[in-house]
Order: sequence, then structure tokens, then C-alpha cells
Amino acid sequence: MASSLLSSPKPSSFSSANPTSTPRPRAQTLSPFRAAAPRFSHGLAAAANPSASRRCYHRAFARPVRASMAQPRRPEYVPNRIDDPNYVRVFDTTLRDGEQSPGATMTSTEKLVVARQLARLGVDIIEAGFPASSPDDLDAVRSIAIEVGNTPVGEDGHVPVICGLSRCNKRDIDAAWEAVRHARRPRIHTFIATSEIHMQHKLRKTPEQVVAIAKEMVAYARSLGCPDVEFSPEDAGRSNREFLYHILEEVIKAGATTLNIPDTVGYTLPYEFGKLIADIKANTPGIENAIISTHCQNDLGLATANTLAGAHAGARQLEVTINGIGERAGNASLEEVVMAIKCRRELLGGLYTGINTQHITMSSKMVQEHSGLHVQPHKAIVGANAFAHESGIHQDGMLKYKGTYEIISPDDIGLTRANEFGIVLGKLRLNIAHLTLRKALPYLLGYEITDKEFEDFFKRYKEVAEKKKRVTDEDIEALLSDEIFQPKVFWSLADVQATCGTLGLSTATVKLIGPDGDEKIACAVGTGPVDAAYKAVDDIIQIPTVLREYSMTSVTEGIDAIATTRVVVTGDVSDSKHALTGHSFNRAFSGSGAALDIVVSSVRAYLSALNKMSSFVGAIKASSEVSESQRVQTTE
Ligand SMILES: [Zn+2]
Repeated sequence: MASSLLSSPKPSSFSSANPTSTPRPRAQTLSPFRAAAPRFSHGLAAAANPSASRRCYHRAFARPVRASMAQPRRPEYVPNRIDDPNYVRVFDTTLRDGEQSPGATMTSTEKLVVARQLARLGVDIIEAGFPASSPDDLDAVRSIAIEVGNTPVGEDGHVPVICGLSRCNKRDIDAAWEAVRHARRPRIHTFIATSEIHMQHKLRKTPEQVVAIAKEMVAYARSLGCPDVEFSPEDAGRSNREFLYHILEEVIKAGATTLNIPDTVGYTLPYEFGKLIADIKANTPGIENAIISTHCQNDLGLATANTLAGAHAGARQLEVTINGIGERAGNASLEEVVMAIKCRRELLGGLYTGINTQHITMSSKMVQEHSGLHVQPHKAIVGANAFAHESGIHQDGMLKYKGTYEIISPDDIGLTRANEFGIVLGKLRLNIAHLTLRKALPYLLGYEITDKEFEDFFKRYKEVAEKKKRVTDEDIEALLSDEIFQPKVFWSLADVQATCGTLGLSTATVKLIGPDGDEKIACAVGTGPVDAAYKAVDDIIQIPTVLREYSMTSVTEGIDAIATTRVVVTGDVSDSKHALTGHSFNRAFSGSGAALDIVVSSVRAYLSALNKMSSFVGAIKASSEVSESQRVQTTE
């Protein structure tokens, strides 16, 4: 039985030697549960069924690395200098670069939720959006600046810098300042292209004109009262070196405090990018009065490597996104860069960040759910298989000494499953399950959930437990995601009934509850039960949409598994401007749903996407009405 697995001692966690990270409260609060927990396997499944626990998940440690590395505290924030030469700032652009990737649209509310999590994670700078791109984006950045930009988090009372992106023109800079100025530490990030190819074909300007615009706009941003201005020479990776030194020198004189060096097209190799940073550091007059930053796209799969090469060469701000989401092939991933620095600190000359790595798993999960961009199972650090050891040779090594094949402990990134609490869940013990889950969930999730959210979740948990022999971690996660990670609900599903088969046309009847609490029923015929149900939903809601993607996965093995559906829909909303090209584009909205019944699961996902679209459309309408009267002057 499980009791034979209980005794192995828990190895000391890295976090205890790390004064900047918040110690996890769960160890103290829930120690009675821990005492009864199987120690080397994850999962409720494992707890309920010890044979399953042999399969894969082990906790292991590269102890020598950890023990020697006590981490200093985060230095006081000064825009243009860092008092500890080894401290590296983490600049997160999940909500700007990441959010503009196809299908990743988040509503203002979702952005705020993610920003709160980024603050908990301990990022130094949150690039919250591109305020000139749409009135909704401006609102989102403003509300993040007001709340997250003024609320101390963690033990050190850290307050992140809130940054807004702008092109090099007054209208964009005004919008960015309007959005970020409410934060305790506001920053404007402005950029202009400096490569020959971009200046000639995109800007149609001479290098001299580009330098003049950059200087003028950086000075303009400072003149508004913004003490912290970041400048990016776009496509720096392909820009002429001498020209780069020149324009950087000029913007430092104009008041730029951070100089971001983007590899916009993801074209450079690590040694090349490292050399670029080193050259800039060596040859730009006045560079000692500014911070050098990296921003590496992942087109050749080198974003993390380039970012680390940049840090090694002297960059002290690294621009990254959670899960590496972003334009095209994405950006450098926060979790990879941060864990690489943490694991190989000595080799990187003692560099460290202020990230509390225990929040990585939750941040990753949250961004996956809200952006609709899910990571592949073998994704480094946060993929589902990142800590799974299936091969016989590996398992043998792991059983002898866990350091053999695992360089990071799951604990380090906050990957702790429910069996940490010693819960064995089944339908016979519902009352105990209720109590235990209520206590355990905030720790599993990384943040508090409301009683209403919990009761909604538990109601559905009970339904599943009644129908399924064994409720697994994955089931619980699917149900939680379905309850917690939902946009504002305009329409919710009351009932759905579908008939299908070889005999006749598939028919579905759907009953929805609308924004005003009214029930509406529609019936439709389709090519299959899901098609019929979606048509019935369309009949009721009447928002013109196109279904772009539909996929369904079963979260566990077995015929009684929960089905998770993901959909992407586009609507009639092209009120957003692309940060780099300036083109308007039609936003895509993702949605997910989970249920034992595939038709129910499908309808829940569809409604989730439609709800997200509805709140986005609503926000655009509301904020354009306001801003019509106070529109800023364009001086492009
Ligand atoms: Zn980018």
C-alpha cells in the first residue's frame, strides 16, 4: 500500500537557502497532510493507486549547485543603474509581444490577472501592452499600472515597473504615458528601426533622419515627466555597428535609461549576439549611464541561448515571455532563461535574478489558459513531460541517485501535485474531499479562489466522481481550469441535448442563460452533434463568428475520461493595430471547456470563446466612446 512509500525524507528545498524567494507556506500549514504523502511520485492517481506511481515522476536534486548558491537580495530600483553588477533584471513582455501572437488575445480582466501573477513571480518590469494600438489596450495597461504598479508583493515588498510600448511618435508616446503614469515606477519603451533594410523600405528615411527622430522622441518622453525611458533600435541584429553606437550615444544624451538590443528577426547566433552586446558595451560613449537589454526572437530556436549570451556579455535586462510566446516562433522563454541562470550561475559569473521560481508552474499554466497557446509536452521546464522519466535506463539511474538525470527539482518551479497533501479522493469520501480540496487548492493554484468559484468547481467534481471510478490530478486540473480560467460570463450553458447517428440528421437543443438572466432555447440541425449544437448557440447569441480551430483531447486514459475542447474563433473586430507593422488585424479568441460528455465539453468551449469576444467588443465600444472626446493629437 501507499504507506510503504511514505518514509523517504524530504530533501531540503533550494528556496530555504534563498532569502529573496518567499518560502512556501504550504510546508507549515499543511504539514499533517505531507506526513502522509507518498514522497517520490506525483498525483492523486498515484496516491489512490500505488502501482501507477512507479511510472515516472521523481523529485531529484543537483544538490552541490544549490547548496553553494545563497542569493543576495534584489537591489533597489534605479532606472539607469544597478548597484549590484551581478543582478539581472527580468523584463516580461508576455502581455505585449506575447499577447499579439495569433489567437492569444486576452481581455483586460485576463491581462490584469496575469499581471498580478507576474508581480508574484517577481519580474522587475512588466511590459503591459501597446497603448496606442487600441483604446482597450490603453485601458488594460492603465488598470495594471494603477493596481499592480502600486501594490507591494512578496517578502521584499517588491513593486514592478509598469511599461508601455510606443513607436517613435508623439501620439504613441502620449498614449503610453497616459497609461503608465499611474504606476509608482512608470516606463515608456519607444522604438525605431535602424537596419539599412528597414530604414530604406519601411521608414523611407535616411539614417540621419532616424537619429533625429529617436533623440527627439526620447527627450519628449522624458519631458512628459517619465523618469524611465527605454529605447530599442529595431532590427539591431542586422544594423550597421557604427551607426548603432552613434544612435545609442545620442539617445543616452537625450535621456534614455535602458537600451534594448532586439534580434527582431531571430537571425543571430549566440556567439554573434554576445559579441554584439560586448561591442556596444565597449564602443558606445556614455553607455555606463544606461542598462543594456536583450530581446531575442526564436525564429532559429536560439532565443534562450542568445539571451544568455547577451547576459554573459554584459546585458543586465533580459526581455522574455512566459512559455516563450510571441510573434512567429516566439520569444526567449522566461522560465528557460531564469532556470538556466539559476542552475549555471557560477559559469555565468555569479549572475542572479529576482524571480521567485516557485511561481513558474502557476504562471505558465495561467498564461496557457488565458492565451489559448498550450506548450508542447516536451517544452523545457514547464512541459508535461519535463520531469517524466520513462526510459528504463533513466529510471534505474533515478532510483539509485536522483541527480543522475534531473538537474532541477520539480519543487523549484512550484510543481507540486495534490498527493503532497495525502489526499485519496473517491466518491465514498466526498465530505472529506470537500474539506481537503478547499484547503489544498489555493496552494495547488498558487492563489486564493473565492468560495463561489470553489463551490462551482466542487459541484462538477462531485458529478465526475459519481460517474468515474478514479478522479485523477488531470481531471481536477481540467475542471479547475474550466471554472477558474474563464472570461467574464455573458452567456452560460444551462442544458444541451443532442441526437446523432447513422439513421438521420444530427439535432441539438441548447438552453442558454443570457446576460440578463433570461433563458433562451434553440434547436438546430447539423452535420454532427457538435455542429448542430454550435448552430443552436449561434441562433441564440447572434454574433457573427468563424470557427477557426477545434480540437478535443481526453485528459486521462480510459473510456470514462474528461474531454477538454479548445476552440479559436474570429469575429468582426479589427480594431487592433499591430505593434510593428501598424496594420489593423482581426483578433482571434480562444476558449476551452471540459466535461465528461463531448458535446457538453464542446459547447462550453465555444461559449467561453464567445464570452471572451463579447467582453472585448464591449470594452472597445465603451472606451472608444470615452476617448472620442479626448483623442490625442497625431504628429507623425
Ligand atoms: Zn519581439
